[in-house]
Amino acid sequence: MSAAVLSCRPTAAATAPLLPLVGADTRVPLVPSGTTRYVDLDAAASARALESVAARVQEALPLYASVHRGAGYLSQVSTALYENARATVGAFVGARPDDVVVITRHTTDAVNLLAGCVPAGAAVLVLDCEHHADLLPWQRRGPVTVLPTGATVVETLRAIGDELTRRPYALVAVTGASNVTGESLPLPEVVELAHAAGARVLVDGAQLVPHRRFSLAGSGADYVAFSGHKTYAPFGAGALVGRRDWLDAGPAYLAGGGAVASVTVSSTEWVPAPHRHEGGSPNVLGAVALAAACDALAALPAGALEAHERALRTRLVEGLSALPGVRVLRIWADSAEPTGVVSFTVAGHDPGLVAAVLSAEHGLGLRDGRFCAHPLLARLGVPGGALRASVGVGSTLADVDRLLTALASHLSVGP
Ligand code: PLP
Repeated sequence: MSAAVLSCRPTAAATAPLLPLVGADTRVPLVPSGTTRYVDLDAAASARALESVAARVQEALPLYASVHRGAGYLSQVSTALYENARATVGAFVGARPDDVVVITRHTTDAVNLLAGCVPAGAAVLVLDCEHHADLLPWQRRGPVTVLPTGATVVETLRAIGDELTRRPYALVAVTGASNVTGESLPLPEVVELAHAAGARVLVDGAQLVPHRRFSLAGSGADYVAFSGHKTYAPFGAGALVGRRDWLDAGPAYLAGGGAVASVTVSSTEWVPAPHRHEGGSPNVLGAVALAAACDALAALPAGALEAHERALRTRLVEGLSALPGVRVLRIWADSAEPTGVVSFTVAGHDPGLVAAVLSAEHGLGLRDGRFCAHPLLARLGVPGGALRASVGVGSTLADVDRLLTALASHLSVGP
């Protein structure tokens, strides 16, 4: 049995972390005095690394050398580490045998890469609830239609279907789970609508892949993009996985060594994907870390991740909803169970000030602002921003209760 399964603790009620994270006992100074255990409720921004990821990186650190370029033993080892990591990442997201796995820096990188490869002039359809990473690359590339999100999932799917009959689209780029509310559209239904109209589907998996079992083959989606630093690996590596033809035909994402078969002073023959888009020396340790995180999540018993996050989210939403003036944000009235991302406002309280008090006086790390989703925040009627608490495999009910107690005491004191 793998180390990841052995270190998976029973968490029916999320009283303990599902998987151990590095730095879980970090202490932070409190105002006016003393220290407390830091409680990170910002996994949606960047989750701390799994202990198993840190161990894998430590093992690889003495071994790394030039990838794909050197003849020496360590170069061969590093190349194997890198290519094995690529295979692990592909398997983790249910890649089909002929899909390509490009190791990117993060989701933003992956979406920009794909934006350069969608056939020129072909239109792209997105919703206005997207993270900027899945909006701005399409806006900049054009032509793009940004469809208003409906009040319900049913209305939104109908609007997507209607729009797809109005003009030809090459791609529907859709969030796998909202970074504001954790909500999702049913991906197989989006895929069915898109494919019926001859369009492909990109899933922005940044908030989905770390929190739910996702499969390209199972969902029928054509591409998925996600980030290592939200998947319990450190910064620096992410992936774009999906159909080969556009990625082979598109311009190299980074022009440089490693992406070419031969070069003269006036012409270049580019290699196919994935190497076509991985110019420069690859981030082997980042890829190793990402693959280690994929291994650990894949080794969890079926349903464990969902059950853990469900227990935490339920407590969080129920607790927040019971506090005076708190509004938990939702995009859709009829969406299925969201992930553990919960954004909320507190009437009469500035989100930035509340977040600062929660940090300084209670040692709690939340996010405040507009979450790189300005159009969505405007649509939800909170253009000035909100607070966001997000949980993951390292979170416990005690963490959630720390937030609820701190907020209750702050609200009883007043703005
Ligand atoms: N997509 C979603 C839904 C996100 O939440 C984020 C980051 O918060 C991104 C894309 C961009 O991820 P990255 O900053 O790792 O590129």
